[in-house]
Order: sequence, then structure tokens, then C-alpha cells
Amino acid sequence: MNPHRTGDGFTQAKRLVVKVGSSLLVDADRGTVHRQWLESLAADLARCRARGQEILVVSSGAIAVGRRYLGLADGHLRLDDKQAAAATGMMRLAHAYQEVLAHHDMTVAQVLLTLDDSENRRRYINARNTLLALLRMQAVPLINENDTVATDEIRLGDNDRLAARVAAMISADTLVLLSDVDGLYTADPRQNPDAVLVPEVRDITPEVEAMAGVARPGDGTGGMVTKLAAAKIAVAAGCRLLIANGRELHSLRRIERGAPGTWFLPRASPRTARKQWLAGSLKPAGALTLDGGAHAALKRGKSLLPAGVTAVEGRFLRGDVVIVKDPSGTEIARGLCAYPADDARLIMGHKTSEIEALLGYRGKDEIIHRDDLVMNG
Ligand code: GLU
Repeated sequence: MNPHRTGDGFTQAKRLVVKVGSSLLVDADRGTVHRQWLESLAADLARCRARGQEILVVSSGAIAVGRRYLGLADGHLRLDDKQAAAATGMMRLAHAYQEVLAHHDMTVAQVLLTLDDSENRRRYINARNTLLALLRMQAVPLINENDTVATDEIRLGDNDRLAARVAAMISADTLVLLSDVDGLYTADPRQNPDAVLVPEVRDITPEVEAMAGVARPGDGTGGMVTKLAAAKIAVAAGCRLLIANGRELHSLRRIERGAPGTWFLPRASPRTARKQWLAGSLKPAGALTLDGGAHAALKRGKSLLPAGVTAVEGRFLRGDVVIVKDPSGTEIARGLCAYPADDARLIMGHKTSEIEALLGYRGKDEIIHRDDLVMNG
């Protein structure tokens, strides 16, 4: 990618997460949605869709929209006030997105997440599956933090990082943070007239961190420090991240046409990063042994079906990592098992079409999907 053509990275994205900051979307004094701005975003997203890009939106603004309706006009809000404001604001926000996207025949689906959902394995799997299902069905997930249940201890607090976690969760290749700054500067441009925009960052070194400065009070959400934290999460997951200015109408189209911004570039693709994570960082909780046919299928890059499993060892839950063994008992792969151990024992050796009758529910066709599988060596 040519570093000075921000548009290339954007138009090449296959699975794109766009994060919209409150200040772009909501008139803080009146607590209303900037309708024209949102309409221009919807039109830009429709262009992305027409190019075949998958789109997810992480939007802030629930609190800013909701507070006025509850008479929480000015000043700093307590946590429970914010939660109440988000509860009434989120539906209004979602409604606004629904209306503008409907003009382009796009269906929006509201997904509220907490930090827990990206850290707890079971909930992570559920959230990932739901988001991937929505993308398959061509809906646009509209994601925000679930402020009602997210108390201080489990609160992420800023949607920059939430967006990065979402991008990592669904193996997105591109995350755009639309904010009210052009990108990362070598110093704070408000204080230093010599500060210049950094177009591309390949390593988040201490020098880069120093450019972002220190978080000032009141900067807790949305400052450059949280954007850098988001960039670290994203690039570790193989996702490139762009910080760009979203103040003008049609900001995504502007990016396409080369508006300034800062790209943070990963070393690996999302697929490789996910496989590395799978191979290295999780402790296996059990094992599946395969028959010869399944072993051969896996070597050809196929998923593992229940029919090819001859033994299940250990106690594990859905989404846990298991070792995969060939018929002689040698470890050949690791993967995330789509069924808990007890259910895996019930369905092993059986056809996929029998799963529902055996378990009483219809789970995944594959016991380990190939995206959740990493072969040794
Ligand atoms: N979840 C908050 C809201 O929608 C926003 C958090 C943030 O601005 O980063 O109002």
C-alpha cells in the first residue's frame, strides 16, 4: 500500500469496521443526531457495500443523545446517570441509523457488548457467531457498549477500544476510527505549530506513544491515548487501523479519495494472527481423535465433522481449545471445539444431519470449523 494514499487501504478492505465518535454524530447542546452527517455516512457505507465490502459500525452517542430526554442537561454525569441516558439514547440512535440505512436498502442490527463479552470465552464465541451470522445475512451490525450493565469494573468506557476488540473478534482486516482529528501528529498540534501528521505507523514504539501524549482529565474517552490502545489491539489481531477526520460530510468518501489520516499497519493478516493466537496462547482442555478419512480431509484444509471423530477426551466447554489427534494418537492440530465435551461424545461418529436428534438442538455442522483450526507444522 502506498503510505500516502490513504484511500487504497480503505477500498481494499474486505471486512470493515467503522467507529463513529459522539462529537461527529450528536449536537451536544441539543442532544440531537446530526441528520445530514448521518445520511452522508449511510450513503458512503452503501458505496462500500456495493463494492462488496462487509461493514460493521461501532457508534458512540447513546449517552449524548439520551441525556436531554431525562433532564440530565449540563455538566458531568454520574455513572448511573450515564447508564440511564444510554438506555434511552441507544434506541433513538439505533432508530436514526435504521432510517438512514433503509434508504439504501440496508438492514441494521443492534448489538450491545461489554468488555466481558470479549474476554469470556463462551460469550466471545456467541458474540462472534452472531456478528458473523449478521454479516452473512447482509445486515449491518450497529455496535455499542452495553452501558446499562457495564459498571465501572467491567466497563471499557471508550468505543475506540471496543471497536478494536470487535475487529479482532471477527477477524476484520480494516478498522477506521472517525474522529475529530486528522490523525496522529508528531506532537500535540494545539500546542506545537511544528507538529506534522504521521501518515503511517508500522511499529508502536515508545516514540510513537510519546506522540500521543498523556491522557488529560476529561480526555478519558476518545483521546489519542485510547486510539493508540485501540491500534495495539487491532494490529495484534492482524487488522490495519486508520485514524481519520470525520467532521465533514462524506468522510469515508474523502478517505477513499486520499484525505489525510494515520494508518497503523499489522505484520500479519487477520487469519494468520488468529491462527497464531489459537496455536500459542490457549491451554487445551481436551482432545479429539480422528479416523483416517477426517485426517485426510483436514490436510486438504477442510473442517472437522462429527462423523470423523472416534474418541473425545477431557472435560471442556463449547469454544474451548482441544488437541486434534490422528488415528495413531499423534497431535496434528489444535482448534476451538463447537460443542462441549459431553455433547461431542454423543455426536462423534454420527452424520451432521443426526446432530439435532441426538442433542435436542441444532448446533454447528462442523465440530471444529476450519477457521478455528490450526494444523501443526
Ligand atoms: N457508549 C458510549 C455512548 O454511546 C460512548 C463511549 C465513547 O464515546 O467512547 O454514549
